[in-house]
This record gives sequence, C-alpha cells and structure tokens, in this order.
Amino acid sequence: MHKDLKDRLTNISQKIQAACLEAQRSEKDVKLIAVSKLQSIEVIKAAYSLGINHFGENYAQELDKKVLATPKDIIWHFIGPIQSNKVKLIAKHAHWIHSLEREKVAKKLNDALEKERRKIQVLIQVNIDQEESKSGINSNNVIDFASHIDVNCPNLILKGLMFMPKINQSKKDKIDSMKNITALQNTFVNKFPACNVLSLGTSNDFEESILAGSTMIRIGESLLGRRS
Ligand SMILES: *Cc1c(COP(=O)(O)O)cnc(C)c1O
Repeated sequence: MHKDLKDRLTNISQKIQAACLEAQRSEKDVKLIAVSKLQSIEVIKAAYSLGINHFGENYAQELDKKVLATPKDIIWHFIGPIQSNKVKLIAKHAHWIHSLEREKVAKKLNDALEKERRKIQVLIQVNIDQEESKSGINSNNVIDFASHIDVNCPNLILKGLMFMPKINQSKKDKIDSMKNITALQNTFVNKFPACNVLSLGTSNDFEESILAGSTMIRIGESLLGRRS
C-alpha cells in the first residue's frame, strides 16, 4: 500500500508541476489537500509520512475521530455539507472550512468558535453550474453572503471561494464552467482583496483547475486510493 501511495503521489506531483509550468504559476501557490474521507487512519499516517500535511474531511464525527489519532501538526480542511447539529465538532477541530453556504450555520459556527476561543479560515461554496443536487450558493449571492460574514462573524476569517463544477460534462462545458469561475473569482477579489484563495479541482479536473487559477486542489481517490 505504501509503495502504491508513493507512486500515486509522484504521479500527481508531476502533473501538478506540469500544469503549473503551463500556467506559468509557482507550485508554491497550489496547495495539495488529500481528501481522506472514508479512508483509514493508517492511510492518513502513511500519506503524512510522505510529507502531506493538509487533509480534507466531509463528516464531522469522522474528523473528530481522526484528529485524535493522527499527528498534531496536520491542517484539517472540512469540505462537506455542514449539518447544524455538528458545528461544535467542526469548530473544535477544523482549521479551514470550504463549504460555508448558510447564514444560520455561519452564526452557529461563530458562536461555537467563541466558546472554543478559536478562529477558522473559511471559503464560501458556490454552485457555479446551478445544479439542483449540489451544495453551494448562487453566484449572484456571493458578495452579499461574504459581506454578511465579514460584518457578523468575527471568528470566521473569510479567505475565498470553493467550487465543485459539474463532472462528466463535455470539454466545451468544462471550459465554460472554468471561465465563469475565473470571472466570478476576479470580481470577488476586487471587492475582498484579502480573499484570494480558490479551492477548485479534484482527481477529475485538477490540471484544468490549476490553469484556471486554483490555489487549493482537493484530491481523494487518485492519491489515497479507492474509498471503502
Ligand atoms: C470527495 C471530495 C473530493 C475528492 O474527490 P476525488 O474524486 O476522490 O478526488 C473533493 N472535494 C469534495 C468537496 C469532496 O467531497
């Protein structure tokens, strides 16, 4: 398993390097987040031993269990839908949240963080292709939601936007999605200059995402192997 993991990491690192070269961007500006949902503690430890220290989780209870059993200097990214009854666990452990999309949840998180005496860096999830089944807010509401967080949630440090574009779309539609993302990102950063993080790209599309300006790619199965 360890050897496979190492090979997969080498393969992905080479692809990241090539995409950065093509985009004329520095590799330092693209953070690799290993999405470890439904993966074992052993897999996380093995990836950590290869130098990965950013991990992404989708479920609060799983995050809780894993944080307690893994090295203390791991940076944890919460990337899944946030259930209001789980905000306490997320407030306790996560360093980043990529999936903020509701004012009510933002307020609950802010209150829970107050009790924990912590702050969390957050990204607003945007449903760029307006898919019924997908989480995230509509592009038109991004500025208002960001202003709301800015004014009302001092424990949430707004850093940027997160996207999960449609998978399995035609090449042309994929390029259109990426263009829409880049345009929205530019408008957003104009308004909120400190919020230049762009979380975009999974196993499927991380190379195109780097070309579109992604600064955080979230890679699961193609790095850590099939989820159980
Ligand atoms: C699971 C997940 C990923 C990783 O997907 P892979 O296809 O395994 O790379 C990335 N982002 C989010 C929000 C996810 O839920």
